[in-house]
Amino acid sequence: MTVDPTERAVQIRTALDEVRARLAAACTVAQRDPATVALLPVTKYFPAADAMTLIELGCRDLGESREQEASAKVAACRELGGQEAGRVRWHMLGRVQRNKARAISRWASTVHSVDSARLVDALAAASRAALDAGERSTPLRVLLQLSLDGDPARGGVVVDELPALADRVEQAEAVELVGLMAVPPLGTDPDAAFETLAGIRAGFLREHPDSTELSAGMSGDLESAVRHGSTCVRVGTALLGARPIASR
Ligand SMILES: *Cc1c(COP(=O)(O)O)cnc(C)c1O
Repeated sequence: MTVDPTERAVQIRTALDEVRARLAAACTVAQRDPATVALLPVTKYFPAADAMTLIELGCRDLGESREQEASAKVAACRELGGQEAGRVRWHMLGRVQRNKARAISRWASTVHSVDSARLVDALAAASRAALDAGERSTPLRVLLQLSLDGDPARGGVVVDELPALADRVEQAEAVELVGLMAVPPLGTDPDAAFETLAGIRAGFLREHPDSTELSAGMSGDLESAVRHGSTCVRVGTALLGARPIASR
């Protein structure tokens, strides 16, 4: 079944208006300045045409979670979209295999899912090489992904190991520590998870006062994340619709 492109664009515009309104309302409730919470649309599993629609609607940051899919989509958008698409900052949200670090360094402004020293080293080396090759012009921005259930098998660094990992990023070249990211554990109350996260972040900020980004909140829980200090909500489903079940 194909969807009429105009109809799809209208669908996306309507959804974007709704999500922006939700975000504004969440900021009002939390008594926060809406300018302090960015909306990061997540385009994984959706075609470059959908990403282009979001770009035309003013989105300048987009999130992806698989390297190969993202590389192809970024290239397609640059081809279709010229200057505007060239200015988009693409964010890597998914688990990163170290052998993909070099490829990611070519298209990502920011990686949200950094959770091990070996990955820090791989990304730093990749970013250095990309800078030297003229493939990027700024350091790779890094967020450390925290594990909130203490089960590192699901991704994320456990809180005890956060200080050492943060120091490793600070000491590396060609990467910039910008903040923290977390996903609430499946089947738990996101509000409780975000409260825990806010406490950990307060301690982290005392050591790293310039690393103020907090990437937290998705389609289902962005209001709670905004209440607990999120500076970036990552929204896929509420903008573009349902993905295949296995997409996370
Ligand atoms: C896919 C994904 C999202 C988007 O989730 P939705 O529930 O569809 O809004 C957010 N964050 C990460 C890390 C993702 O992989």
